Amino acid sequence: MAGIYIHIPFCKQACHYCDFHFSTNLTRRSEMTQAICHELRKRSDYLDERIDSIYFGGGTPSLLNPEELKAFMSTLSGSFEINPSAEITLEANPEDLNVIKLESLQKIGVNRLSIGIQTFKDSKLKWMNRIHSSEQAKLAFKNARTVEFENISVDLIYALPGNEIGDWLEDLRKSADLGPEHISIYGLTIEDRTVFGHRKNKGELIEVVEEEAASQYLKTIESLKSFGYQQYEVSNFSKPGFESFHNSSYWAGKNYLGVGPGAHSYNGSTRQFNVRNNSLYLKAITNGSSYFETEKLSQTQLVNERILTNLRTIAGLDLTKLETDFGIDLFEEHQSPIELLQDQKLLEIEGEKLHLTSKGFLVADEIALKLFFDE
Ligand code: SF4
Repeated sequence: MAGIYIHIPFCKQACHYCDFHFSTNLTRRSEMTQAICHELRKRSDYLDERIDSIYFGGGTPSLLNPEELKAFMSTLSGSFEINPSAEITLEANPEDLNVIKLESLQKIGVNRLSIGIQTFKDSKLKWMNRIHSSEQAKLAFKNARTVEFENISVDLIYALPGNEIGDWLEDLRKSADLGPEHISIYGLTIEDRTVFGHRKNKGELIEVVEEEAASQYLKTIESLKSFGYQQYEVSNFSKPGFESFHNSSYWAGKNYLGVGPGAHSYNGSTRQFNVRNNSLYLKAITNGSSYFETEKLSQTQLVNERILTNLRTIAGLDLTKLETDFGIDLFEEHQSPIELLQDQKLLEIEGEKLHLTSKGFLVADEIALKLFFDE
């Protein structure tokens, strides 16, 4: 059971908050499609397992035309054993989702959409330099239902400066009104090499204070629960049975191949990082030279990774499984930080499972760090 991630490194315009790898120069798009297909063929033996999920992420995969997507799909089916009922997700921006495009996506085999709505407030969309309007987002969703997409996720951003809790709850309600099967939420973070990062450094942008961001996050859990969405990971909520299979596989430590510039791969013992630069990637693929770095993961890194990924999920960290797989009794090794985190109501132990509370999810990565082991 494994997954494939395909990174499409192009966007029509740059959102002011985004530090993912992408280029707004679309001229080398078809060359890139061929190069990524070449990488897929070349690495067809990376995963010696059936493929149960394929994820087109980016960047903006929805700007690919049907021919380009078909090229990926036929390369995938020619190079890997794909489960006929594999989850095939495509990240999409609302402005790309007209009925004709959606029909072609479905024909090609895409069976799950992840739509970047972010907010229904047009002033905020403009401020973030999103290309679409809230009306386009609603229309995209409606079009997707018209062509009978039955598994749709929407992405939303909270902690937007100037927004009050009421604005955020309104975004959640409007999303729930659409009725997607899955909702992902992300707090706005200001990254250095972005327009917002520069504005922040010049004192022109002030982030939402931590308490407000925390309150919006905690209210999200309550609000989405009332609309019938169960939280299954720090940032992810779904109707029962619609958890993202692909992302859940990452958190469960399953193997995956990531292709395209900036993509990562993991095979249980090593991690590979593709070069995060379109030109260098294309050049290396053409010359047959190396385009990735490999890191051999130590036992300690594997344990720490298990702690980090599992603690981000509602299911939590299985202490017995950790001991069986790595010979580590976490409670014995880290008894005092665990007890302290329990006292602070950030962490709970139920049977063999150690899991974070809602308050703990707010600082999941910091908690995981406290439970990490040194090399
Ligand atoms: S948020 Fe999405 S659409 Fe916007 S620049 Fe980043 S990858 Fe592109």
